[in-house]
Amino acid sequence: MHYHIILTEVCNLKCKYCYEKSMHEFDNGLEEKFDYDMETPVDSEVPIENLKSFLKPADTLIFYGGEPLVRMEKMIEIMDNVNCNFQIQTNGMLLNKLPTKYLLKLDKMLVSIDGTKERDNWGKGNLHYDKIINNLKDIRNRGFKGEIVARMVISESDIYAQVMHLVELIKQGLYNSVHWQIDAGFYKFDFDETKFTKFVKEYNKGISELIEFWTKEIKKGKVWKFYPFLGILNRLRGWDKNTKLPCGAGHNNFTINTSGKLSACPIMNSVKNLYCGDIETGVTKEIHINNCNNCDYVNICGGRCLYWREAKLWPKVGDDLICETIKHLIDEIKKIIPEVNNSIEKGIVKKEDFDFEKYFGPEIIP
Ligand code: SF4
Ligand code: SF4
Repeated sequence: MHYHIILTEVCNLKCKYCYEKSMHEFDNGLEEKFDYDMETPVDSEVPIENLKSFLKPADTLIFYGGEPLVRMEKMIEIMDNVNCNFQIQTNGMLLNKLPTKYLLKLDKMLVSIDGTKERDNWGKGNLHYDKIINNLKDIRNRGFKGEIVARMVISESDIYAQVMHLVELIKQGLYNSVHWQIDAGFYKFDFDETKFTKFVKEYNKGISELIEFWTKEIKKGKVWKFYPFLGILNRLRGWDKNTKLPCGAGHNNFTINTSGKLSACPIMNSVKNLYCGDIETGVTKEIHINNCNNCDYVNICGGRCLYWREAKLWPKVGDDLICETIKHLIDEIKKIIPEVNNSIEKGIVKKEDFDFEKYFGPEIIP
């Protein structure tokens, strides 16, 4: 099982699509929809002894925040005492401060980057890009060989250019793979129909170009690890038989919040309606999306995101536009299946080249 653990709600960055947007979001109606737990502390107060008895050696614990490295001492305490696999989702700013002994105990990490230096600094602040590039070089030099996923938020529609920049960073050995999520449907105030309609048109065009690149590379023997493509292809191809939410939230991935309650999703970790147990009793219920049943794509898409479907912050026209991006992506991947099969049959690539670890963080459906 995969578990995110919220080490702290505090973050050391003020990203445009996270901190800045939250500062503009008033009266979005979530107080009426969700029963918020006002008792959860800012920093994790989960006793080590409880974590020790709850987590099994085969489990994976993903350090999460806020920014988890802001609570490095808690992370180190956990790594010193708990026997399981460790991963982290971080903005990368403090990776150089993590002692090598603990760095090498991580088997995988997601390090945020939004594409080119210009785009990344626009979203995350002027110091981010250079700092994390230096930190990635530092951790590679210190012997970190695990997978590093470039986790990107797409706020502008030039997905092709941004992913191609990340491909260059993969070639330099800094990252191994790419995941992105579009910044859509997570706040109420930011929906603009004209602007988002234009975004969808251009984004879909960029996705088609990216799939063309991906297919050409497969035919040459290289499978780039783009999580949305791998996840959807695995489901379409029948290699992944699960039809539930592909991020795993609420069924194969639970979040340990700062007071030790288990929640379906890291970003809704203090919503009582989505509690699924606690670390003393374990998982007592699963939570699933139930408002996509009439959609032909549901067995592949799984409903995109529990938070988005539950919070319903955008009007229907906005949600339909988001679904248009999902359907386009699935249709485009569907088209290349014969070429993927052909490349496998000819031995140019192997089926295993399309394998990936499920439920550790990449949401699959952007
Ligand atoms: S495309 Fe939209 S409606 Fe269809 S399953 Fe996905 S989220 Fe639900
Ligand atoms: S896709 Fe949605 S439900 Fe899944 S982890 Fe991300 S925010 Fe949570």
